[in-house]
Amino acid sequence: MSTSAAATSLPRLTGYQWFSRLPVLRHSFKAKVLVVAFLGTHVPLLAILAYFIYANSVTEAYALQVLAMALVATLAGTLVTLVALHALLRPIDLTLGMLRRFRERGQLYRPELDLRDEMGTLIQGTHRALEDLGAHLERVATRDHVTGVLNAHGLEQATDRLREAGDASAALVLVRVRNYGQLEVTLEREELEFVTRTLADRLRLVFPEPALIAVRGRGEFAVLLDDTGEADVEARSNHALSELTAALQVRGSQIGPICALGVARLQDAGTPHGLLPAAEAAVMAAEECDGSSWVLSSEAGAEQRTRMELSMELGRALERDELFPVYQGRIDTRTGQVVGVEALVRWRHPQRGTVSPGLFIPVAERTGQILAIGRQMLDRAVAQGAAWERQGQPLVVSVNVAALQIAEATLFDDVRDSLRRHGLTPGLLELEITESALLQRSDASMGLLERVRGLGVSLALDDFGTGYSSLSYLTDMPVDRVKIDRSFVARLPVERDRRILEGIVHLAAALGLAVTAEGVETGDQARILRDLGCDQWQGFLFARPVEAGELDRGPHTLPG
Ligand code: C2E
Ligand code: MG
Ligand code: MG
Repeated sequence: MSTSAAATSLPRLTGYQWFSRLPVLRHSFKAKVLVVAFLGTHVPLLAILAYFIYANSVTEAYALQVLAMALVATLAGTLVTLVALHALLRPIDLTLGMLRRFRERGQLYRPELDLRDEMGTLIQGTHRALEDLGAHLERVATRDHVTGVLNAHGLEQATDRLREAGDASAALVLVRVRNYGQLEVTLEREELEFVTRTLADRLRLVFPEPALIAVRGRGEFAVLLDDTGEADVEARSNHALSELTAALQVRGSQIGPICALGVARLQDAGTPHGLLPAAEAAVMAAEECDGSSWVLSSEAGAEQRTRMELSMELGRALERDELFPVYQGRIDTRTGQVVGVEALVRWRHPQRGTVSPGLFIPVAERTGQILAIGRQMLDRAVAQGAAWERQGQPLVVSVNVAALQIAEATLFDDVRDSLRRHGLTPGLLELEITESALLQRSDASMGLLERVRGLGVSLALDDFGTGYSSLSYLTDMPVDRVKIDRSFVARLPVERDRRILEGIVHLAAALGLAVTAEGVETGDQARILRDLGCDQWQGFLFARPVEAGELDRGPHTLPG
């Protein structure tokens, strides 16, 4: 229906607007009707009276008497009219009340009236429109707009309903796409949405209704099943795993989702609200395995439970400022002086004491909380670097950056704002990025890193040598330094590893990159690394991570 056609079929409000311009009548519809009714009855009556008196030239007393009588009669009539009009206009008050109640409290009033006139249409029409609107809002609030399945809120409501129903055979399957972080870095938004939609469709196939499917977050799905026997759960988990991990085509290339499934049955979890934590622990256990797998919550171990609990407490830890950086010295292999430090996050947990990042960073990366942690650590480290610089004892401060911080592209603004706020010379800040975070380099992430580097900040490739290590990274990455992973260093002085290391260091030198060796624990390792040409050591042999005030700047000497 076109707008002009709609406009012609609807009444125009010219006359009504004229009334609305009169100051006393502007704010009340009832006042408008009552004034019109009053004038409509009184003006003609008074005109008749005036003519009657004038035409009959009656005495003044008689005229007054007629006038008074007429006045009393019309006033009584007006009063009755007003009362009747008030009742006739009540449907409008009711409609207004319905709208207000819906807007303010989200409540829908169902009118049980049998009105056949325009007012009936108005009330019923309003009710129907509000009903439709309510259903639409409910859908928007509980559905994921990309896939059409439930969102986290919808899943919560479904779990609540389950609790009310007391269904003892229910189960929750959590699905986590393990390589989702990489997909986020590599794919455009629409492509990522396509992957998410495809996975949701595959889940629908394996778990048809009445199973409820939900998207819980980035690369994470949940399926609420209402009846499950043991064998059924096993068969369906296997089926789901093979369907979900089948390759899919994006931008002409194949993508193989790697999935971890955690299955929790109500009989194991105890209560409907215990389902989610139990399934979380099971997913974590599944993630301990290589590749794709599924685990039953009854088989998940204590460590997964701890990590799951930590993940739930992490939000509070951020609010209460329980996270703080410690600093580990990076030592110049020629002078033995600390020339830089790496900021490493720690969690001062009220019950568990100091918690190491290995336990909560992987979880935070999945939940997205790493963004807040990363921003907080960056700011704290830059502030500390600026304090050292002001004291005339500058050190290059390195900060770890997670893949998601690069994917979300807020990194540039965060770095620039922090540097400005604390007045740190950009050359005294280094960002450490792991090669797995850059595994599949997209133009956007490379561009972002170039821009960050344009600020004068340097970049280091962290944990080099782990996982997908490839020398080609060194040639086309916008980095200034390579940090050789400690697993490599730990294998020294095995001859073969020594030669590999030598190759890396020489290539780095040829590309003009500096080299830090991580995890240096023995004098032998330190000597070999120095002789190979590494310019920095980092490891427990010289310095453990400590709070800023306890830093020992050296010079450190090699034992023996
Ligand atoms: P990383 O960036 O490779 O940090 C070096 C890790 O090696 C640190 O562990 C450090 O304490 C440890 N290390 C250093 N020297 C030695 C040694 O001689 N022997 C041994 N066995 N270990 C040594 P930490 O502090 O537990 O951190 C672990 C990882 O957590 C870090 O690895 C980094 O990937 C991540 N991480 C820490 N802080 C942050 C942060 O603020 N943001 C992000 N995104 N990740 C962080
Ligand atoms: Mg690091
Ligand atoms: Mg490292």
